[in-house]
Amino acid sequence: MIFMKIIMIVLVAAMITIAYNQTLVNKEFSHKSLLPYSNIDRDEDDAIVTYGVKKISSKYNITNVTIKVKDCNESIAGKYVPTSKSIIICKNFINYIKYYYKYLKLEDYNKSVNATILFILYHEYAHMFDDLYDLPIVGNEEIAADQFAALNLLDDYMLYNYLEAYKQLIDDTSDIPAWDEHPTYRQHYYNLLCLLYGYDSDTYSKFKGELHDRAERCDYEYNSISTAWSELLD
Ligand SMILES: [Zn+2]
Repeated sequence: MIFMKIIMIVLVAAMITIAYNQTLVNKEFSHKSLLPYSNIDRDEDDAIVTYGVKKISSKYNITNVTIKVKDCNESIAGKYVPTSKSIIICKNFINYIKYYYKYLKLEDYNKSVNATILFILYHEYAHMFDDLYDLPIVGNEEIAADQFAALNLLDDYMLYNYLEAYKQLIDDTSDIPAWDEHPTYRQHYYNLLCLLYGYDSDTYSKFKGELHDRAERCDYEYNSISTAWSELLD
């Protein structure tokens, strides 16, 4: 009897996952009024993915990409699968960051979760562009993908929201090992903070001290990186 119950629960969970993925994959990306800061129902995370896909599709000519939000069997935030030309946003990772951000007041919680989902999405788009166009990336591809995601989050304080929330995670979670191709959490944070400060040092002047002597070079970093990505995808 108990086995039947377990099997039923597993089956229902599988059906819900399939239905959820199908909904997202088949959905017309046509949300008109959804803003990243709207107080959306957190059960509807695909809505912010839809918003992100629509936004990036309006900037770049992209076809035949499948986006899925689903549980991943790995401790990753998302991935791009070249063989199927699909981007996967890992639902287990989204749930993980929601757990960490739950202490935030609702408005900040929504901003943080939304900005993080968009960051993951745009990071995976960068890997996809690299694959589709065989981009001549010089340096670490993960850091280049982070830069692309950050550049696409500069509007509406989204990168700022992402980093403010991300900062809370740094000391609480075990870090990326130094040998990994991904930067450590602190390197990730400061690399992107420098981009943000370089983009608009007046608005984000409060970060000058945190960036120490790198602050004066962030304007150059921002211009160099944004020009490089523009030329790569021109
Ligand atoms: Zn990556």
